[in-house]
Amino acid sequence: GKTVPGDLEIARQAVMKPISDIAAAAGVNDEAVEFYGRYKAKIDPAKLMTPARSPGKVVLVSAMSPTPAGEGKSTLTVGLADSLSRAGHKVMIALREPSLGPVLGMKGGATGGGYSQVLPMDEINLHFTGDFHAITSANNALMALVDNHIFQGNELGIDPRRLTFKRVLDMNDRSLREVVIGLGGPAQGVPRQDGFDITVASEIMAVFCLAADLADLRERLGRITFGYTYDRSPVTVADLGVQGALTLLLKEALKPNLVQTIAGTPALVHGGPFANIAHGCNSLIATQTARRLADIVVTEAGFGADLGAEKFMDIKSRVADVAPSAVVLVATVRALKMHGGVAKDNLTAPNVEALAAGVVNLQRHIRNVRKFGIEPVVAINKFGTDTPEELDWLSDWCTAEGVPSAVADVWGRGGGGDGGDELAAKVAEAIDAPHGFKPLYPLEMPVADKIRTIVQEIYGADGVDFSVPALRRLAEIEKNGWSGLPVCMAKTQYSFTDDATRLGAPTGFTVHVRDLIPKTGAGFIVALTGAVMTMPGLPKVPAALRMDVDGAGNPVGLS
Ligand code: ADP
Repeated sequence: GKTVPGDLEIARQAVMKPISDIAAAAGVNDEAVEFYGRYKAKIDPAKLMTPARSPGKVVLVSAMSPTPAGEGKSTLTVGLADSLSRAGHKVMIALREPSLGPVLGMKGGATGGGYSQVLPMDEINLHFTGDFHAITSANNALMALVDNHIFQGNELGIDPRRLTFKRVLDMNDRSLREVVIGLGGPAQGVPRQDGFDITVASEIMAVFCLAADLADLRERLGRITFGYTYDRSPVTVADLGVQGALTLLLKEALKPNLVQTIAGTPALVHGGPFANIAHGCNSLIATQTARRLADIVVTEAGFGADLGAEKFMDIKSRVADVAPSAVVLVATVRALKMHGGVAKDNLTAPNVEALAAGVVNLQRHIRNVRKFGIEPVVAINKFGTDTPEELDWLSDWCTAEGVPSAVADVWGRGGGGDGGDELAAKVAEAIDAPHGFKPLYPLEMPVADKIRTIVQEIYGADGVDFSVPALRRLAEIEKNGWSGLPVCMAKTQYSFTDDATRLGAPTGFTVHVRDLIPKTGAGFIVALTGAVMTMPGLPKVPAALRMDVDGAGNPVGLS
């Protein structure tokens, strides 16, 4: 067949409509649109006038455990929405904003790929409308205010050794994981050990993405616990009295960003917590705004369904009534072969035996989605190197497993073309099928049991092992009355275990929780497992080495 050009080239050749046309077609009134150039706009939900109707149905796109390259969730999210739109449905996409960490590092951008992309891809992948700048600034303003409070006499009695909040940067920068600040003598502040997280792991990002509106954002910011006093009591942003300033820094960013797909489907791209170290989905405001405008909202939960989808169900769907009407599990032949034992460099060679050995990974994700009361649809994301034998084998396996599936080529043919017609039909059917959403665990369950439930029911572990510091944190959580919060697992995305090298569907393992971080503004407890990092590092050959600007000012090397 014909060769498909690179993502950036396809994006550059696509003809975009003025964003005012996209807004008007989506039913957004003029008063609610704020232009950021010709092809980007923010929508002010407070000025949006939509007729009273039942909110749009949510379709959640998740996946099997991915390879480091990603298995095409964003691509399928965009392509599926285009295909549903082509079939006559009123559709809107809700996606996360990309982080510069993976853009400059290994994974690349997060605007989809091939003929299923949101545009303008270069701008969305780089600075976009500045939301991450605002979130980074709010986070760092808080820490500057905290350190200043300590320097100016420390009226609250904040223990500089017990701060749980860090400064952030939207960059993979391992050198900043552990730092010492305030050196240089009495005039330079109070020295203490500090560190940086990546912006997408910040609690400010989580709060931003779970807030119902500006008033709720202010409340949540005030509830953030950033550390403890000398007598071990939690100190909050409200104790410091700066929730107003932080809200002010975030107020424009909180309006969702409207862009378009190559096929002209409207997309809200807003907020962007990672799914391995944070809760992993776009802002609640974007999801709800899209539901006011469309009958079907296609949204994505990061990484495999053990991370993003579990958190979508157990965290986001409890904050608001956004439980999905259908869940799509993206699977690829190449990733299944990797789970079946094939090395990363041999994934393009035909190998039905390896596929059959690796399918246990997909099987566990299917079983997991069913535990939430929803029957998944498997989207087989077709790669040029897949053989008909492999694709048929996988389709037959899905049929035998009793799960609806479709081979989709939205990357090569576009959802606006015919690449996702069969998938769209299966998803539309699934939306209308009876389903009864239920979270995995009740909030009354003690935190340790919630974690045990997730690792046993979703990961397939025998149990959980808490480090000594984690056990101490459990007692502290109990004492401070935070036991009713849900859990946000921080775990590698590559494995059901906390060891990135154990692929497939391992059994007979224990998950190691090394620390617990209460996020009282976001409203969950982060459980750090294995060696997962809240500040990633760059690979030996970062994507940045390919990047440039050509003589005409066009971007080069983004993917
Ligand atoms: P995820 O959202 O799961 O991380 P993406 O949708 O971002 O994955 O896709 C990751 C990369 O893989 C992108 O560069 C995209 O162009 C590429 N890709 C996705 N699907 C296909 C496909 N079917 N064939 C070839 N490349 C693909």
